[in-house]
Amino acid sequence: MQGISRLFVFVWPYLRGYMGRFMAGVVLAVLFGIANGLLLWAVNSLLMRMTPEGAAAAAGTANALTSQGTIGEWKAWLQTVTEQAVDPWLPRAGRAADWRQITGGLLLFPFLAALRGFLGYGSSYCLAWVSERVVNDLRLEVLRKLTSLSLDYFNKSTIGDLITRVNGDTAMLQRCLNVGLSDLFKEPVTILGIMAGLFLIDWQLTLLTMTFFPLVITPVVILGKKVRRSAKVGLKTTVNQASLIVEVLSGIRAVKAFNLEEKMVDRFRRLCGELFGSSMRIVRAKEITNPIVESIGTLGFGILVVIVVVRQVSLENMVSMLAGVAFIYTPVKKLAGIHNLLEQTHAGVERLVQVLKEEPTVREAANPVRFGRFQSAIEIENLSFSYGHRDVLQAVNLRVPRGMKLGIAGESGSGKSTLVNLLFRFHDPSSGSIRIDGRDLREIALGDLRNQLALVSQEIVLFDMSVAENIACGRPDATREDVEAAARAAFADEFIQRLPQGYETRVTERGFNLSGGQRQRLAIARAFVRNAPILVLDEATAALDAKSEAEVQDAIERLAENRTVICVAHRLSTLRKMDHVVVLSSGQLVEQGTFDELLRKGGLFNEMGRRQGLCDG
Ligand code: ADP
Ligand code: MG
Repeated sequence: MQGISRLFVFVWPYLRGYMGRFMAGVVLAVLFGIANGLLLWAVNSLLMRMTPEGAAAAAGTANALTSQGTIGEWKAWLQTVTEQAVDPWLPRAGRAADWRQITGGLLLFPFLAALRGFLGYGSSYCLAWVSERVVNDLRLEVLRKLTSLSLDYFNKSTIGDLITRVNGDTAMLQRCLNVGLSDLFKEPVTILGIMAGLFLIDWQLTLLTMTFFPLVITPVVILGKKVRRSAKVGLKTTVNQASLIVEVLSGIRAVKAFNLEEKMVDRFRRLCGELFGSSMRIVRAKEITNPIVESIGTLGFGILVVIVVVRQVSLENMVSMLAGVAFIYTPVKKLAGIHNLLEQTHAGVERLVQVLKEEPTVREAANPVRFGRFQSAIEIENLSFSYGHRDVLQAVNLRVPRGMKLGIAGESGSGKSTLVNLLFRFHDPSSGSIRIDGRDLREIALGDLRNQLALVSQEIVLFDMSVAENIACGRPDATREDVEAAARAAFADEFIQRLPQGYETRVTERGFNLSGGQRQRLAIARAFVRNAPILVLDEATAALDAKSEAEVQDAIERLAENRTVICVAHRLSTLRKMDHVVVLSSGQLVEQGTFDELLRKGGLFNEMGRRQGLCDG
């Protein structure tokens, strides 16, 4: 029950938007349950009419009914009313049947069966429609949430885990809702409907059979717990598997280069084995539920038979009692199945709840300041930052006036990219601040801030779209002319023209069909389209060989014209044309000056320069 209520609390906000269909589904489900009860009543009624004594009772003498007390009176009243209504339409023993009674006898069951069937269909359809919608919305919401989270969240989780949340966990919920939502309403009402039918036939016997329910429920609950535990383990394995797939596929070159194919497949095989184990544990727990419910249930059936014999219940009542109890098994078994399904879904739902609860650590101010275009200077004051354990940047002070071309040098790991991350506000400083035109970054609308900046970094991200679209995503309203102009400016036009479909060539996800230099020039064209006043280059040419670097460098120089540039590099030759260079070492600014000054000075820059053959020692 707890599982059901928690699931409902979770899906309720999504369900609310589809109240019409949902209520239609629920109402149809209730009617379906009632139709089940009706069917039972029809069996009983007709049987009664076929035996002489029953027929006499049905002839309209309410006193013929033996039951006492309020239930008895109420029942007698109901019986009289229905008898009066249906008697002309149903055949009765010892009465010559006219056309109405023949038609009634012929069509009663087909009618009730069809009614029940179509009600069931309508209810399943509406509720399935609702659950598909709900899951769609949820999936969107999860992805939207993920994109809204800050980078620290992604540092903590694997891609496989996140993919499983968006796809796997929601798919599990979908399966659960699809099957569960309709059964969840249909079956209890069915049970109640049949129960009501049985009550009318013999309420004492019915009460007696009900005492078996707790006996059935106990094993269902215990087994459900087992399903939940195994499902949790299984989900963990599924996530690991997804992560492994992402790892292998995105690193396929390294996997092949290091002959790791077998090893990776082995890791995968081990996970498959684990998954098999937990799946089978779930299957066992789920499938054993049925036999247990059945065994206990049929025990009740047996006792019913004995009581029926001892109490000398009339034949037609006995038949309908037994039929009713037999009818009730299916919904009880289905409910037990749903319970298991809910328990199985539980772990996934917990994960969805978790991710939806996450809040971005970098949050836009409540009343963000709109920011036009960068005017005067970026000021970094006493800036410190840590990813967790130790400070990666320590008390950095720096001023970048508009139009300056600033170089940031430093060994790898000295915190250069971290500084760039802070400038883009991918993270917030632990202490100190970055201001742009006198405004703290934290006050400015995030969209406006990032519109000031264009990033070209070492790892180029190309999307699975055409070349033109990849460039155009630098600015939402870029036209085709803008794209081509940018490509020309980035010296990319020529090679793009030579691609099989020119600008329409699809770039595969990570740009396997392009060389490193070509990808880099696409990234530069994208930055051109963006036309942002501040250009940030983070090791933009570090991965390129000398020839492609020369090509890309030309493109960069053109892009840097009339812009403020922050150029990060550990390869010092890249910084030769910068107005001013600062040197980072273990998160601290240790030197600054012009390129030549620093080279002459005999500090860290000079040492790096000598190692890179820029000057002689
Ligand atoms: P650089 O760009 O100068 O090579 P980074 O700024 O990337 O250096 O990294 C500076 C330090 O911060 C390194 O010691 C690195 O291990 C650490 N670091 C970088 N990114 C993360 C991260 N996402 N989580 C934890 N530590 C990180
Ligand atoms: Mg770096």
